[in-house]
Amino acid sequence: MSKGADKHKGRLNELNEFGKDLARRSKSHCELCDNHGVKLFIHEVPPVPKQPDFESCIFICETCQGQIEKPKSIDVNYWHCLHTSIWSEVPAVQVMAVLIAKTLAAKADYAAELLDQVYLTEEQQQWIADAEADLLKKK
Ligand SMILES: [Zn+2]
Repeated sequence: MSKGADKHKGRLNELNEFGKDLARRSKSHCELCDNHGVKLFIHEVPPVPKQPDFESCIFICETCQGQIEKPKSIDVNYWHCLHTSIWSEVPAVQVMAVLIAKTLAAKADYAAELLDQVYLTEEQQQWIADAEADLLKKK
């Protein structure tokens, strides 16, 4: 096995250790769309830290994850769930919801309205700025 693959596996193992706590925090509901009774995946909110960090992980369903990974094919009608998740008590969920709303804002009035309403701490604003810089780098 290559070194890169080893490293990847190590990270996944570390992330999987968060699984139990994430299941508890989310009550096994997708933290973005509230879907339940489906398999949930650990998603690291960008910028991904060198060491896996529980506070930057969210627990989400396959549909949400697929949409996040392919922002170009994002479905405007799917994300009305942001009306709830953008007010999450979990900072990482709020940050991810804002990042998605920003992707949608040009196409969806409701997303632009949510961005006007949402209250973010300075720390979260910095997090979002860092995430956007990180996402740009990957383009
Ligand atoms: Zn979901």
